[in-house]
Amino acid sequence: MVTMLTQNTREKVISLLERLISYNTVSDQSVLPMATFLAESAENMGFSVHTFETSAQKTNIIAQIGPQEDGVVFCGHMDVVPVDGQSWNTNPFKAHIEAKKVYGRGSCDMKGFFASTMVALNDLPLHQLKKGISLIWTHDEEIGCLGAEALVSQVKESDLVFPKTMLIGEPTELRICRMHGGHITLDVEIQGVPAHSSKPHLGCNSIEILGELIMALRQFQITLAEQPSPHPEMKCAHSLINLATVEGGTAVNILPERTKLRLGMRPMPGHSSKDMITKVEEILFSINKRFPQANLSSVLIQEAPPMVTPRGTLLEQHLNNILSTSSTIGVPFATDGGRLTDLGFTPLICGPGSIEQAHKANEFVSMNQLFESVELNRNLLQNWCF
Ligand SMILES: [Zn+2]
Repeated sequence: MVTMLTQNTREKVISLLERLISYNTVSDQSVLPMATFLAESAENMGFSVHTFETSAQKTNIIAQIGPQEDGVVFCGHMDVVPVDGQSWNTNPFKAHIEAKKVYGRGSCDMKGFFASTMVALNDLPLHQLKKGISLIWTHDEEIGCLGAEALVSQVKESDLVFPKTMLIGEPTELRICRMHGGHITLDVEIQGVPAHSSKPHLGCNSIEILGELIMALRQFQITLAEQPSPHPEMKCAHSLINLATVEGGTAVNILPERTKLRLGMRPMPGHSSKDMITKVEEILFSINKRFPQANLSSVLIQEAPPMVTPRGTLLEQHLNNILSTSSTIGVPFATDGGRLTDLGFTPLICGPGSIEQAHKANEFVSMNQLFESVELNRNLLQNWCF
């Protein structure tokens, strides 16, 4: 895509991105300063802003302008991943510009999209809108789409109306993504019966039960590998389970009373996250039947469902025209899109920057991608809503 942006627009998007990077929105920090700034910017452009506080420091923001029965939703998450333990060449919360790249935490994931959206909107005669524009800004996507999960109930309790078409600006190098896998964190606790190790018949060793569980999960992994995702766009063909962390036992001469296993699970598009959770629960139940002295239980820590949007939506056609492409991709990371489909949205993902740079030290977005994203967002809004 050739960008025709004026120098003034180029300067505006870079300076806005610099400002957004300066807000430390790592998940253990408050998102409110950045949310307030974005809300005020939207209000200044004529949007009605609705804030949905999830907790004292966390809020989701919805901004709307124009008739909402039809139109488009732009969606992004305000939080960023931590910088602890990463070796940055410059301050991650102070944008650094070098070789036509803007460096800083969140530059590509995904504050560059926020900047390009706000600048694109600024250039449009919003008082002449024929269709509506909604902006949905979530918190805590990076720790399991928690903001989007809260937003689903917040919106269901409100009387807000939305267009069903949604663009999520996660970094895809401006390629059109219509699917991704999900991610689930599930904690399993095995409660055994402690005993002196000289009298094992008086107890129940929770680590030995864990061994049974690992064997059963291994069998589940093999079954999953035999059920490929029906979508060839996904490079990883089947759903995955990761036995991530284990805690258990206290001393060499005591049968361990309690053992905990944390599972990470990645359902592929076309597979259901609920089905994966149910299957693990069935495994726990059947082991418990064989070892009635033990108690196996699970707690769902986080669930970001997979997303798949059908081929050929009107949004895809518009993006195809603007980007002169006809292909779509799948991406390996989860987004808020999987959860937000609960509200009836049909999302596509297309944003500036590469996931290769996301979450790493010296994260950057190239200025070119940023400018192209302004142009893309402006053209899309222009074609769709006026
Ligand atoms: Zn992201």
